[in-house]
Amino acid sequence: MAQQSDHFKKVVAHCKEYGFIYQSSEVYDGLAAVYDYGPYGSELKNNLKQYWWKSMVQMHENIVGIDAAIFMHPKTWKASGHVDAFNDPLIDNKDTKRRYRADQLIEGYVEKIQGKIDKDVAKAEKRFKENFDKEKYLAESPKVLKYKGQISEVMDRFTKAMSAENMEELKAIIDDYEIADPESGSRNWTDVRMFNLMFSTQLGNIAGEEGKLYLRPETAQGIFVNFLNVQKTTRQKIPFGIAQIGKAFRNEIVARQFIFRMREFEQMEMQFFVRPGEEMKWYEYWKEARMKWHLALGHPAEKLRYHDHDNLAHYANAALDIEFEFPFGFRELEGIHSRTDFDLSRHQELSGKKMQYFDPEVDKNYVPYVVETSIGCDRMFLATISNALVEEQVPGQDDPKNVRDVLKLHPAIAPVKVAVLPLKRNDERLVKAAKDIYQRLSLSHNCQYDDTGSIGKLYRRQDAIGTPFCVTVDFEHLDDGTVTIRDRDTLSQERVSIEELERIVDERVNMRQLFL
Ligand code: ATP
Repeated sequence: MAQQSDHFKKVVAHCKEYGFIYQSSEVYDGLAAVYDYGPYGSELKNNLKQYWWKSMVQMHENIVGIDAAIFMHPKTWKASGHVDAFNDPLIDNKDTKRRYRADQLIEGYVEKIQGKIDKDVAKAEKRFKENFDKEKYLAESPKVLKYKGQISEVMDRFTKAMSAENMEELKAIIDDYEIADPESGSRNWTDVRMFNLMFSTQLGNIAGEEGKLYLRPETAQGIFVNFLNVQKTTRQKIPFGIAQIGKAFRNEIVARQFIFRMREFEQMEMQFFVRPGEEMKWYEYWKEARMKWHLALGHPAEKLRYHDHDNLAHYANAALDIEFEFPFGFRELEGIHSRTDFDLSRHQELSGKKMQYFDPEVDKNYVPYVVETSIGCDRMFLATISNALVEEQVPGQDDPKNVRDVLKLHPAIAPVKVAVLPLKRNDERLVKAAKDIYQRLSLSHNCQYDDTGSIGKLYRRQDAIGTPFCVTVDFEHLDDGTVTIRDRDTLSQERVSIEELERIVDERVNMRQLFL
């Protein structure tokens, strides 16, 4: 556990030091849970978005993309249920004045008990070695059974309280189990109350409630209200999907864990419109397809898992998360939701406009059902970078002190694809040749020319930002036009012509690699 949080600290520090992510408005001591992407961060984020867009929109004949505005008519959020039900249970600690989500405090308590079980199992495993039968131990150990009993007792009360939105019961759980402020240990709590997560603002020309606007808390509604426009103008037939990438805003009560939970973030969402009754087939389809998308990027299978929802949202008839093992544990990375006809029906009701589709195959008008895939771009970024960052002994070097930080990103999403480095920065012929190569490669890829240090230092820097290839231009180049190309992961060096160089780079960094 200590090791994991050390890795998390390292990821956060690395993101800042190498120009991936900065705290927003840092010169004014920052703005909580808001972050800016730096030069390499914005490249990496754009590549992740491109990977998503390509696989979801450009590689599906029946999915089209849109880019809806952030501001929407306020009735949108009444229809979607966000005005009345987009709430989290909030609790304040009277001593520390710190604010928490009551549900997360209770979940944290349960995680602690689970931690005791894990510790117990690890101890027993050590003691019994190869004779250890984990299943049997979990089913029979009196200590484990006691902990399991505690968990199911709390979870039972918690699940009931959450679905009934019973704030008194949430407070009673916190009191009964003596759940304390994780920072200070104080148990001096206020009552629990609901807190709406939408940010609001005001239209300039209309005063009062009438002019109240919201910053969208999800991109999905921009898709629903455009369902008819898109279907008519693209003549898509059901089943078909509409996708978009865009900002969303949530006034999160507790926003910690870096870019995992932000107040301004980006979503990549796709709503797939299907014939009623066929939604479970498509739900299964997208569940598989989205997992494959994650695996293709090189994320290890053991760091990804499905988590079925116990509590379904008011609009869903099935829902699951794809969870990723972040440095602080398994957490939601993406949601797959079968949203029924809830959203379109609600917009139909509140707008008075028919949100129907005529299906010639069954000769019927109906409101389509929807299966949604929704992933946070920033969470995807955090998953990717925390998985890619490794500290390792430099390959081929024996001295244990010879370590390097390297971002082992898939070459197709690396911020810089090739760094072109002249062997000597004060040799005009080498500098000119290296700049010419840089210009040539830049026509196809994001490249970098760098002569600001010794070759060894420049290599380390490129490793730290995940550049898959470094090209060194030395004196031999002036005679025969060849250069050396160094591979980030193996450190192998090959002498090649410029044409070969272009072919090798194209082959490895092309996004096509992710779909083969
Ligand atoms: P959580 O339970 O973690 O608050 P959620 O279930 O409310 O997430 P959804 O409404 O399903 O999230 O949003 C879809 C995706 O958007 C999530 O899977 C996540 O990747 C991303 N997301 C949601 N809230 C945030 C946030 N505050 N910061 C960054 N990404 C977020």
